[in-house]
Amino acid sequence: MTERQAALVLFSGGQDSATCLAWALARYERVETLGFRYGQRHAVELDCRLRLREALRALRPEWAARLGEDHVLTLDCLGALSDTALTREAAIAMQANGLPNTFVPGRNLLFLTYAAALAYRRGIKRLVAGVCETDFSGYPDCRDDTMKALQVALNLGMDSRFVIDTPLMWLDKAATWALAEELGGAALVELIREHTHTCYLGERGTRHDWGYGCGSCPACELRAAGWARYRASAR
Ligand code: ZN
Repeated sequence: MTERQAALVLFSGGQDSATCLAWALARYERVETLGFRYGQRHAVELDCRLRLREALRALRPEWAARLGEDHVLTLDCLGALSDTALTREAAIAMQANGLPNTFVPGRNLLFLTYAAALAYRRGIKRLVAGVCETDFSGYPDCRDDTMKALQVALNLGMDSRFVIDTPLMWLDKAATWALAEELGGAALVELIREHTHTCYLGERGTRHDWGYGCGSCPACELRAAGWARYRASAR
C-alpha cells in the first residue's frame, strides 16, 4: 500500500540506509535522500550514493517515478569536534565507557535535526533512518528511545508533526538482507551487495561474498556475519 506522503531518507550509501531507501520507495509517493559529509574516513560511501540511486531507479520504473532530489550537507564541525576512529586515523578499540571509539557523539542527533530542518523546507513529514538496536555496536543514538525522544523534541521545537520511521530497529543484519529480498527480490539484494559501502576504513579493494570491505573492522564483521546467517536461512 502506498501512502500519499513524502519522505526524506537519511541515505549514507551503506547497506542499512540503502535498504531503508528501498523500503521508502515501496511505501511513499515522493522520496528524497540526504547524505552528510562530516570528515568520515570512509567518505567513499558518498561515492556509492549516486550509483545506488541510479541502480534503484533502473530496478523498478515505479521507484524511478518516486525518487526525488538528493541533498548532501557538509558538517565539517562534527569532524573537527570529534576525536573518534571514524574521523581520524586511529585504531578501532573499545573505550573505558564500554563504547567503541567509532562512536561519534551527537552524530545521529545532529543528522536528524538537520534532516528535519530540510524536511520542513521541503514540506516532508516522514524522516526515515536506518538505525537499529538489535544487531549494533551499542551506539546510544541508535536506540528506539533516543529516536522517540528526538521525534518529540523536533516536533516541539519546530511546531511540526514529523514521524521518524525506523524500519530496521528490531531487525538483525540477516533480517535486513531478507527485508531487501522481500522489497526488491534477488536483484535488490545483489545491488546492495555490490554497490553499498559498510567498511569503517573505507576499504573497497577486496570483494567478499557479502560485498566490499577490509573484512576485519567491526562494521565488516557485522555485515559478513549477517550475510552468512541470511544465506544459511535461505537454503
Ligand atoms: Zn572494514
